[in-house]
Amino acid sequence: GSPPLVAVAAPAPRRDPLDKERPLNANSPAARDVRHVLHGYVELKAQRESLPTVITAGEGIYVKDENGTPYIEAASGMWCTSLGFGEEELVEAAAEQMRKLPYYHTVGYKSVNPAIDLAEKLAEMAPIKDARVYFALSGSEANDALVKFIRYYNNAVGRPQKKKFIARHNGYHGATVATTSLTGIPINHVAFDLPLPGFLHTTDPHYLHHAHAGETREAFAERLARELDEMIEKEGPDTVAAFMAEPITGAGGVIIPPEPYYEKVQEVLKKHDVLFLDDEVVNGIWRTGKLWGAETMGIAPDTMTVAKGLTSAYQPLSALILSDEIYRGMEKGSLGVGFFAHGQTYSGHPVSCAVALKVLEIIETRDIGGHVGRVSPTFARRLQKLGEHPLVGDVRCKGLIGAVEFVADKKTGRLFDPSGVVARRIKERAESAYKLITRNVPSGDSIAFSPPLIITESEIDEVFDRFEKAVNDVMGELA
Ligand code: PLP
Repeated sequence: GSPPLVAVAAPAPRRDPLDKERPLNANSPAARDVRHVLHGYVELKAQRESLPTVITAGEGIYVKDENGTPYIEAASGMWCTSLGFGEEELVEAAAEQMRKLPYYHTVGYKSVNPAIDLAEKLAEMAPIKDARVYFALSGSEANDALVKFIRYYNNAVGRPQKKKFIARHNGYHGATVATTSLTGIPINHVAFDLPLPGFLHTTDPHYLHHAHAGETREAFAERLARELDEMIEKEGPDTVAAFMAEPITGAGGVIIPPEPYYEKVQEVLKKHDVLFLDDEVVNGIWRTGKLWGAETMGIAPDTMTVAKGLTSAYQPLSALILSDEIYRGMEKGSLGVGFFAHGQTYSGHPVSCAVALKVLEIIETRDIGGHVGRVSPTFARRLQKLGEHPLVGDVRCKGLIGAVEFVADKKTGRLFDPSGVVARRIKERAESAYKLITRNVPSGDSIAFSPPLIITESEIDEVFDRFEKAVNDVMGELA
């Protein structure tokens, strides 16, 4: 199973973000935030007692707080601002589309040009033959729609029993009721009465955490595929509809399965006629060094979910890309089991789609994929260097996504207990003292990096120079 999560907050003292020496200004934006804004992913009590950093501007890999202090955004916000901040061409694309047609939709028998162009483009780009695209606004909504579509599909093709979903511990697939159920992070489930029945989780392919003593990476990968096979057998293959995975697990810890994990997993899924639902929300659009995580990891998926980097987060948008086979099954269903009663107000939003088209154009004209290939060796080298630290147990990276994991004992790989506290302290120190934004992720004591894809080599050096200072500070305090 996945390691238990202990969220430990040391609430920051009340301070005026404009001047830390000055008593709290009750009318500052941060103080007003505390009174009325409900934040996600906080301890609610701690949020009431500490002030948020209010971000007011951004340029390139930097964002600024209301003090005008610049921070390096080495997490691209929520793994999403791939082209960085302040990209005028995206602003222009949105403004131009807003002037032309600020809103229409793809519900019923209506459509809009940006959605048509984008669907065509994504169908060309995806490693899925004759793909069909459904648009929503967030990764969660696309994955949630996918759960419904797969149910509808299996009803339509006469397999009403084939409804269970298997995802992995530490996978993250969204925040709706169904996608939190797909998510395999315990703290997302507790007190929300989730997961729903019919959502199962298998071992996450984190070698450091789950390998048996003396087990090689290859043997570990093969054992996990066998465990998946056994789970499907035990549940009954005719009851299991689909397996969902991020090629490289993002928010759950940047977990990169060793070979031949996906080769073996796909053999198991084929054998039992279980679909592979590829969550590319973080991996997609060059994050892992190739256009898709599926390409990086050797996956031939049945569906793909894309969001975040698709618009560089300048507008909300997600795309659910389905194989022709699934679409034809659904089509049959719409004639037989009933009208396809699913749609959303903002499906195919023209402004979001226009921004996505501009992102994809910029990626081609500025050769962002080539750029990632050129700078990622520096990213990998700086992470590997961190791996030499006496308390670093693991470093993981592909393209411009990476993580460093701190352990209590480098020799044995023993994790800190409780887990998460050290990573959180380093993350907080990097931010407060060195103005570097990273993410601590729920995989032991891991800190993730996913900088904007436009980052330069010297900026990568700056990220890790700052990070090393924070690591040394906190390690000095632990010793
Ligand atoms: N899937 C993955 C892999 C994600 O990382 C996320 C969000 O972090 C989601 C789905 C959900 O996307 P959203 O937050 O846009 O709903």
